[in-house]
Amino acid sequence: MARQDLASLIRNIPDFPIPGIQFKDITTLIGNGPAFSEVIDRLHERYRDQQIDAVVGIESRGFIFSAPLAYRLGVGLVPIRKPGKLPAATYQIEYQLEYGTNKLEIHRDAFQPGARVLVIDDLLATGGTIAAACDLIGMAGGQVAELAFVIELTFLNGRERLRNHNIFSLIQF
Ligand code: AMP
Repeated sequence: MARQDLASLIRNIPDFPIPGIQFKDITTLIGNGPAFSEVIDRLHERYRDQQIDAVVGIESRGFIFSAPLAYRLGVGLVPIRKPGKLPAATYQIEYQLEYGTNKLEIHRDAFQPGARVLVIDDLLATGGTIAAACDLIGMAGGQVAELAFVIELTFLNGRERLRNHNIFSLIQF
């Protein structure tokens, strides 16, 4: 399946969740079996020989892609979650959103020291979420090998904010 065909399966919802946002709805992509397989296959192809020790997924849409990718790579999956969800000792980070702040957590013992970690999320917008995730991974002793996204909104320049990391995206708008 061509990259263009994958892009055409992402549904654009204007003014969701607030006026002015063009929401990229992935349910139409993951609801298509061949397309979902293609996404995971392409990511697997890119990372299979990169000595990745763990895949990190960010709650909640990040879990949709991180779980099958970790399975294909044969490595563990480490969840980064909203506060109060992870049961053991955690590190927590608070970060700025466009309006207000948000918090994320990771288990303190999530990684072997120096583990090479692949972080995956559904979409790169401003990069605030993934930057916070990278800070958490550092606190827990992991090393970020690359940041992977199914979708990148290039006009928001998230890459600029994340310029000390390798970044890969499958589909760009
Ligand atoms: P950011 O921190 O600005 O990079 O935003 C990243 C998170 O917000 C992503 O994990 C997305 O799930 C969500 N998000 C931001 N903008 C959009 C959008 N236009 N469509 C769908 N999801 C979005």
